Amino acid sequence: MDLFEYQAKRLFGAHGIPVKLGEVARTPDEARAAAERIGCPVVVKAQVLTGGRGKAGGVKLAATPDEAAEKARAILGLDIKGHTVKLVLVDPAVDIATEIYVAITLDRAARRALIMASAEGGMDIEQVAVEKPDAIVRVHIDPAVGLQPYQLRQLAFGIGLPAAHHAAFADLVTRLHNVFEAADATLAEVNPLILTTTGEMLALDGKVTVDASALYRQSALAADRYDGDLTDAERAARDAGLNYVDLDGSIGCLVNGAGLAMASMDVIKLFGGEPANFLDIGGGAQADKVEKALRIILADTRVKAVLINIFGGITRGDEVARGIVAALGNIATDVPFVVRIVGTNAEAAQTILADAKLHSGATLAEAAQKAVQLAAERGAA
Ligand code: GDP
Ligand code: MN
Repeated sequence: MDLFEYQAKRLFGAHGIPVKLGEVARTPDEARAAAERIGCPVVVKAQVLTGGRGKAGGVKLAATPDEAAEKARAILGLDIKGHTVKLVLVDPAVDIATEIYVAITLDRAARRALIMASAEGGMDIEQVAVEKPDAIVRVHIDPAVGLQPYQLRQLAFGIGLPAAHHAAFADLVTRLHNVFEAADATLAEVNPLILTTTGEMLALDGKVTVDASALYRQSALAADRYDGDLTDAERAARDAGLNYVDLDGSIGCLVNGAGLAMASMDVIKLFGGEPANFLDIGGGAQADKVEKALRIILADTRVKAVLINIFGGITRGDEVARGIVAALGNIATDVPFVVRIVGTNAEAAQTILADAKLHSGATLAEAAQKAVQLAAERGAA
């Protein structure tokens, strides 16, 4: 889960990292009012969950509140790499002397946190990595002993930071590491970390990615989670613990496992149909989860048939079959279902499904073909 810059910097501030955090605004008028409160000059920054905002025209300085409103008007609604700007951050502007890059990320191959720093801040770090790989200093953190003072010196000397700023830098990186650990982050990045013309060190930008699997113990971050880009169905699915993506077709899909869900969608397309959604109900597949999934699928009026494709491994086929039958007992629908269950307890599942008079397919191809045909009979385009 990615945090917006303002959320990342709020988190930085809470951990004692120096930031100059202003206010978020949804309209030009709100941006003007924010600029009046903060005091000009300000910088108006697009809040989108992607980088490279500066280059895309999403970061603009404003000398007066009216200019802040004008810049906000230009930035709001902008499309940055497929993300529409709905929110801007109005921050006090600062005079930059030096831009530094520093980030902590999870190096899965090394199974350790990795700190990266570079004097080439402000730019695209991927570009620096390609063009000047030696300009990035890398330090791995041994989880048994934690971040060591000598490593902080290694980083500071490695990027050629003047000695006068070593203490501030070491303190900031230590706090960034605290953020990384406290937030269960897989990335905590400051680009640029700046030195102002008066020698102050500040985190000017912030990017934090929180491990979504840790959200159960990150309730504050989870509660502040942005879901404005999700459809109602996607939001309901997320709350039910289902992996669901809305699509435009007519065949609803209920599958266990992301890979199998992708394969099911491909086979539907192979037989001339169009999937209405991607849905991975995950392992276990208890009856209540099946019911929630079916309710979400059937709420989509474009759905003309539903394909249920279950591979029973740890998940028991008969349990899923009972879940489907129980769910259908609670949901009034005339949409036809085609079910294919193989693997653990598949025979028992077939018996349950046959008794419930559901369509079934012995193979995925057979089931998908049947679903496509039923959808077509019911007027699917
Ligand atoms: P990004 O392009 O999405 O990474 O957005 P940043 O927050 O990193 O901003 C991009 C660039 O805008 C920075 O590298 C700075 O050069 C510039 N910038 C941002 N805030 C200020 C500011 O307060 N004053 C000045 N002079 N430049 C700023
Ligand atoms: Mn940046």
